[in-house]
Amino acid sequence: MKLTSWGAAGNVTGSMHVLELESGFRILVDCGLNYEDRLRFVDNNLNFPFNPEDIDLVILTHAHVDHCGNLPNLVRQGFTGKIICTESTKDLCWYLLEDSLKVQIIHAEKLATPVRKHKKGKKKTSKPKQIRLLYHYKHIKDTLEQMMTIDFREPKQLTDFLSVELYQAGHILGAASAKLTITENNKTVNLGFTGDLGNYNSKLVVDPQPMPGLDYLVCESTYGGRWHGEERLATDVLYDYIQETCVKLNGKLVIPAFSVGRTQAIIFTLHQLYRENRLPNIKIYTDSPLAIKSTGLYTEFLDELNEEAKHFARQHGNLFQFDQLHTLSEKGHSEYISVSPEPSVIISAAGMLEGGRIQEHIRNNISFPFSTILIAGFCADGTFGNKLLQGQKTVTINGKEKEVYAKIARTDVFSAHPDHNGLMKYIENSGGNKLKKLILVHADAPSALALKKEFPDQLCLIAERGKEIVLE
Ligand SMILES: [Zn+2]
Repeated sequence: MKLTSWGAAGNVTGSMHVLELESGFRILVDCGLNYEDRLRFVDNNLNFPFNPEDIDLVILTHAHVDHCGNLPNLVRQGFTGKIICTESTKDLCWYLLEDSLKVQIIHAEKLATPVRKHKKGKKKTSKPKQIRLLYHYKHIKDTLEQMMTIDFREPKQLTDFLSVELYQAGHILGAASAKLTITENNKTVNLGFTGDLGNYNSKLVVDPQPMPGLDYLVCESTYGGRWHGEERLATDVLYDYIQETCVKLNGKLVIPAFSVGRTQAIIFTLHQLYRENRLPNIKIYTDSPLAIKSTGLYTEFLDELNEEAKHFARQHGNLFQFDQLHTLSEKGHSEYISVSPEPSVIISAAGMLEGGRIQEHIRNNISFPFSTILIAGFCADGTFGNKLLQGQKTVTINGKEKEVYAKIARTDVFSAHPDHNGLMKYIENSGGNKLKKLILVHADAPSALALKKEFPDQLCLIAERGKEIVLE
């Protein structure tokens, strides 16, 4: 049996792992988009390093686009097999893939628009470029039709040699770790893929559930060598920022957040403050059409959420609705609240500040010393969010340079991944040193190395892109 990682190997984007069994049966675990270089986005994602027609089965761990976003392209290029995932992941994929296609179209149109250059008094217009997309709407529909949903903790015998069992990974609604039981040549092997794991004690989602009885574990390592500093309750952290920014300074608290997962956790926390009578009388805005749609699914799949969320829903009738919360679906409203002088909390996407409506809110508030930009999660190197955290004094947004006078803050309380200790705890509970091999994926080099150091050399290895790992 051979494992080859074609994405999320040496980085945290474009998750894509091919497991080839002795019989030649090929399983693809996740098929995500690679966002490493936005200018080469289409080139980096259009062609696969294998023939999509040769893949027999896909296992999809969760609906984030760096895990599911290239599935329609795989289908477009000839993959006709089943895609195994949970029902909530399938429903979230519908929204996320549609949104991802919209973003691709906007980006492609921008690149294709002729640019006027003024050179030595002469006007010169570049040639229009052809719009290139990875897939079309039809391929999203085909992808969803190929999805076969299974429930958590119900092993599914897919062929006479392969069964799959999904475990709750936490992270976001529907996220699964997959345990594959493979019987070939009278030998049975158990192999686990974590997908992205959630943080312990997260809002809304359960703790990541370990997979027992594994021989091999392919484990995400996003926060290897890093520790979440914050020990405080999420409600207390948000309460303090709202007091400091909105009450004392009459400013705006702008929170960039991923539409799926982080936004719901933040709204739920604000709702808790509201029910505890600790939320001052200010307006809370969520400004992301995708977040609004996804929030409905969190309510629909309440049974999958943690006990705190279920208890709260029983007590108050819902998770996310309260008087002070306003959802903005139209862009005009978004612009209005962004520039209005009233103190408020604005939650908008994208999480690392790369694109999306959050850019406008940052542009309108970043030079205002009474506002706070609260970065509530991981910002990869080179992203706009990361540059702000590094203390950059001026930023350029939509071609306009702005000086940074707003307070730039960050918190880990909404992190959607376990830190170093959390990863160690998870690995220990999923076999630890009894595993035959522990393969680390989904991390930059320093994080993967920090985690690898915790284990004997012969046990643990870091996946390298395109390098075959033989599992016996
Ligand atoms: Zn994820």
